Amino acid sequence: MENVVELMKEKLKEKGYKLTPQRRATLDVIIDSQGKHLNTEEIYDLVKEKCPEIGLATVYRTLQLLDEMEVILKINLDDGCSRYEFNTHEDDHQHHHLICQNCGSITEVEIDLLEQLEEEIEKNHDFHIKDHKVKFFGICSKCK
Ligand SMILES: [Zn+2]
Ligand SMILES: [Zn+2]
Ligand SMILES: [Zn+2]
Repeated sequence: MENVVELMKEKLKEKGYKLTPQRRATLDVIIDSQGKHLNTEEIYDLVKEKCPEIGLATVYRTLQLLDEMEVILKINLDDGCSRYEFNTHEDDHQHHHLICQNCGSITEVEIDLLEQLEEEIEKNHDFHIKDHKVKFFGICSKCK
């Protein structure tokens, strides 16, 4: 956790930014809510508990900045809003998401499982795959 903050400070400094208390609070909320895939409003509500004076626009810009720096990942689960999660494996491929079409729950699949497909694609298309976003839509175990 402290390492992440230090790394973040470095990254921001390289680009001429500072880790302001607002940015720090936004980052903290995302780190603390791992696996929850919060949207901008939900993050804003939580950040406000720590920084009551913060505005939605500031949180929005901070999320964009963190996303640009690949500290967090923006995920679009086709439910009409952008959600964010902490980028836990900077050098790894993103995990997959299982989205329940009944209750909207989001489950993460940690293993990649795509290595073979990726190899095929790289070979056939002379294309270097760095990441992917895979979403599976269906019915979760609780809704079955
Ligand atoms: Zn992969
Ligand atoms: Zn469900
Ligand atoms: Zn996720």
